[in-house]
Amino acid sequence: MVDVGAQATAEIMKHVPCPHCGAQARMESDVVLRWVCAVCGGPRVPVEDAAAHSEREREQLLRAGHAKKMAFAHRAFGIGLSLTGTMLAALGAALATVAGAVALFMVLAAVVALVFGITYVRSAKRRDTEAKEAVFEAWETVAEGLLRARAGTDQGEVTGEQIARAMHTSVEDVERMMSFLAVDNRARIVVKDAELVYTSGDMTSQPPAAEEVSGTRIEGDPQEEAMERAILESEEADADAAHPPGTDARRR
Ligand SMILES: [Zn+2]
Repeated sequence: MVDVGAQATAEIMKHVPCPHCGAQARMESDVVLRWVCAVCGGPRVPVEDAAAHSEREREQLLRAGHAKKMAFAHRAFGIGLSLTGTMLAALGAALATVAGAVALFMVLAAVVALVFGITYVRSAKRRDTEAKEAVFEAWETVAEGLLRARAGTDQGEVTGEQIARAMHTSVEDVERMMSFLAVDNRARIVVKDAELVYTSGDMTSQPPAAEEVSGTRIEGDPQEEAMERAILESEEADADAAHPPGTDARRR
């Protein structure tokens, strides 16, 4: 999952303060949260470019950290209950011939403990998934931040490899993030010289230079634009048909 420059990551990030505790500490790898601060255990995204980080990312990381803590607590509680249930069941079985009523009570208590135990372990799994999703969202936010920070400069177009290096992750991971970002128009995927390059999807952060605007128009799908125009025209025609010419003046 995290492979490019993983070894160097811990060292590099020593110079970037942790968004949770502010410590300039090394990072440790984590199965659920990918990278965590060695001091506070909070999840982090290993990107040195300060402009790529944001409050939104911090919130997503906090959510991930919280979900992971909850997962840990629920798992511990669930396993504790399951063990108690198993012991009660064993005791109940041992006492079955000596004290029937007590044994029955123990078996019933065992069933309750096991049911709750399993419920908590399941809940822990859900929380882990939640944490993973929040971490992924934070990584997306930082990837978007990287593109946005470069938008409008001569480094506005970035390859997957460049992003992977900046984020200390694999190109496949970047491609996955970019495909999600592109769906929400947070990034744009452009083919240039038979290679995929990524640019910021946020047009407002780019200077409103004339060539930028015309560039956007060329990249827009002409078929889609034609379809939109056709839909608009047909709607106008419908509206004209529905209203007698006299009411037209009021509408315009
Ligand atoms: Zn920290």
